[in-house]
Amino acid sequence: MTERFTGSFTQQEPIPEAGIDAALAVLRHGRLHRYNTAAGEISETALLEQEFAATVGSRYCLAVASGGYAMTTALRALGVKPGDRVLSNAFTLAPVPGAIAAVGAEPVFVGVTEDLTIDLDDLAAKAGRAEVLLLSHMRGHICDMDALMALCNAVGIRVIEDCAHTMGAAWNGVPSGRFGAVGCYSCQTYKHVNSGEGGFLVTDDADLAARAVMLSGSYMLYERHLAAPPREAFEQIRYETPNISGRMDNLRAAILRPQVADLAAQCARWNDRYRRLEAGLRDTPGMRLTHRPQAETIVGSSIQFLLLDWAPEDVRAVIARCAARGVELKWFGAAEPVGFTSRYDSWRYAPASSMPASDRILAGVVDMRVPLTFSLEDCDLIARIIRAEVSAVYQGQTAAAE
Ligand SMILES: *Cc1c(COP(=O)(O)O)cnc(C)c1O
Repeated sequence: MTERFTGSFTQQEPIPEAGIDAALAVLRHGRLHRYNTAAGEISETALLEQEFAATVGSRYCLAVASGGYAMTTALRALGVKPGDRVLSNAFTLAPVPGAIAAVGAEPVFVGVTEDLTIDLDDLAAKAGRAEVLLLSHMRGHICDMDALMALCNAVGIRVIEDCAHTMGAAWNGVPSGRFGAVGCYSCQTYKHVNSGEGGFLVTDDADLAARAVMLSGSYMLYERHLAAPPREAFEQIRYETPNISGRMDNLRAAILRPQVADLAAQCARWNDRYRRLEAGLRDTPGMRLTHRPQAETIVGSSIQFLLLDWAPEDVRAVIARCAARGVELKWFGAAEPVGFTSRYDSWRYAPASSMPASDRILAGVVDMRVPLTFSLEDCDLIARIIRAEVSAVYQGQTAAAE
């Protein structure tokens, strides 16, 4: 009998009861705007920022409307202006080059390695072209951050980390988002905490934090924050920083606080699932699993493998055969952007010179989400299905080539 998987790849877990209760309390008192507080009250948003800062060990934290907003705010706070160039990953998702375009700047794409991290040699080669790197830890893959920071520090490049897929992850014990000048996170439904939409920006730099608070639309009420710098930091910049509203609200903050408190436990559950899938897929003929270095503390909320140098029709056959058995894979390398685009040449508003070594890798990237609603047995079953279908197509392919 052919096994089939019948679960959903897009179904996340419900909001924890504590979050539902807290959300109802906010709805009942009606003070949803973060600066709308009763006498002596501290807003859910201010508390959330304080708690998230403590979680990642940052001095400052600002909660905002989305991960994309966190990135544009970080770019603006760092002084990126229209016409500037910003280095970024060729392998990422649309909100990343979109954030660069939103401030009128132009991305300079940096290549990808077979382990799906930024190519440090290509970064070194392009380092002279921009003063800021928007580094995307795409699909949770963290490059050698010590080497990256040494390179960027040596040439004066400031780093913004896009941690949409690495909330809870670390490199050599240092949380993702704590290497660069600013770390940005997303609280969108498909990320590691879920408030529908939302984001965080963290930094240790008082000037950047103050600018970000002003940019987000603080109406000069920055003293109601618990994880913002003291008023001195605002003295000058309050006159020169525009209000580009993108605040977090108390309803979302109420939903998020128990999830932030639970983050480490949830990450461990993701990793249990990831390791089961990885074990089930290991040594599948024709497939290359990405290597996860010892220094990397992962959050396995998705898994990727490479079908390197496969003909496009064979990759398509694997995707179709798995889909027929209920396993939803995404081919990030498809020439036409569908759903989630992740090829730098799909973003035609940004000029891109060709990168053959990266193109070869991107053409073979297959991705699968791992929602926590999957059981460990589900993961075993999914791995068996993928293994069987990749092997079947690979053997057909090999036979045809002989
Ligand atoms: C989701 C995501 C973001 C942030 O997205 P929002 O939807 O704006 O919260 C940033 N980078 C990557 C790689 C993402 O997948």
